[in-house]
Amino acid sequence: MHTLLNAPCFVGCNRAILKALANALLEECRQNQCGYENLAQWCGALQARYEALLAPPFKKVYNATGVLLSTNLGRAPLESGALRELEILSGYVDLEVDLERAMRFERAFQAQNLLKALFNAPDALILNNNASALVLVASVFAPKSKRKQTLLSYGQLVEIGGGFRAHELLESVTHLKLVGSTNKTYLRDYKNACSDASALLASVHWSNFSMQGFVASVPSKSLFALAQEKGLVLYEDLGSVQSLEHTKKALKSAHLLSFSADKLLGSVQAGIVLGEREHIEAMRAHPLYRAFRVDKITLFLLTKSLQGYLQGQKTPLQAFLEQDKDVLLNKALKLHRALSQIAGLKAFVIPTQARIGGGVQMEDLESFGVQIQANIDSKALYHALYKRGVAGVVRSDCVVLDVCALFEKDFFAITHFVQEILKSP
Ligand SMILES: *Cc1c(COP(=O)(O)O)cnc(C)c1O
Repeated sequence: MHTLLNAPCFVGCNRAILKALANALLEECRQNQCGYENLAQWCGALQARYEALLAPPFKKVYNATGVLLSTNLGRAPLESGALRELEILSGYVDLEVDLERAMRFERAFQAQNLLKALFNAPDALILNNNASALVLVASVFAPKSKRKQTLLSYGQLVEIGGGFRAHELLESVTHLKLVGSTNKTYLRDYKNACSDASALLASVHWSNFSMQGFVASVPSKSLFALAQEKGLVLYEDLGSVQSLEHTKKALKSAHLLSFSADKLLGSVQAGIVLGEREHIEAMRAHPLYRAFRVDKITLFLLTKSLQGYLQGQKTPLQAFLEQDKDVLLNKALKLHRALSQIAGLKAFVIPTQARIGGGVQMEDLESFGVQIQANIDSKALYHALYKRGVAGVVRSDCVVLDVCALFEKDFFAITHFVQEILKSP
């Protein structure tokens, strides 16, 4: 150990951290009954672990998958102007004070006002993510501790992605009373299930799932009327904004609704709850709100996105979504032209189907991609590209780079990577 830690390559390294890493490495080797042959190899292994700790938090990804929103690629890209302004956080800011009156102040006041204005909502609440919204709504209006019950249709027991199931989250804080059947749920199912324990009527959007054929569900309007008649709270988990207009309309037939800010809204990770003042106020007053509130970085970026909406600016996601067929074809031709310069590479422009992803329901987008082939195996090419942050797809034994979610300014870098791989895969 002593010899290892005192090796010349570790001069200037943090000793305590190095020692902890070395211990973990030795322990692993002991357990797996493996080891390294010489000091140089031990040094190499330890150095790799030390350097991994100091690597940048994120590496850039060139999204050539044709999927605009993926949770594993960080969902929506953010507006660069807003990110530059984040610099203000290198000092102190008036997060919770009113400078005019030298008084304490609610941190999300401005963002909430923007949400109220944009969505024509009586009140708004901002949480860490939409999952927090599900938990907080059920905790406030139908808590298990008070033996309260939430009605939910069997048809909405859906897994969304990454193993996320809204009903499992709800179940952790409320008693779920399931109604109807998988394919058909009628108003009378909800009616018959109502009891003194019932307090919340929840509706969860299908997101990336659809059901066809012999199906029936209850329109929000009828559910809202029932909720009002029975004195229940109707909460709709929209998953994502579909459009501002759609969300405004949904708000008219629910006491509360929620969605993610980093899906179609195209902003940072946050959960937005809109609804009636007394309901939002009750949520704000619940101790769990403190656990779900957002930090200053989120609040800053969300506020900037909402201001962008107010001023008619497009989010980067919207800009991608509004690319028409001509724009996409031109983009593909540009990438094709750049890639065609590479010796030993065959490149073709092909039509593709891009998708919104992120559990948002929307028709596929007619897009284009550049299909590339070289004298290395397509899987090998795919992996070599992936390692450099270029995420494409393998289709019929070729790598396809869909241009829908690529930025043109990155074409040069992508071309460079392909060139590099063909030189030494
Ligand atoms: C995506 C989604 C969620 C989870 O939202 P997060 O912001 O990722 O927590 C919840 N419900 C529905 C219907 C969704 O589509």
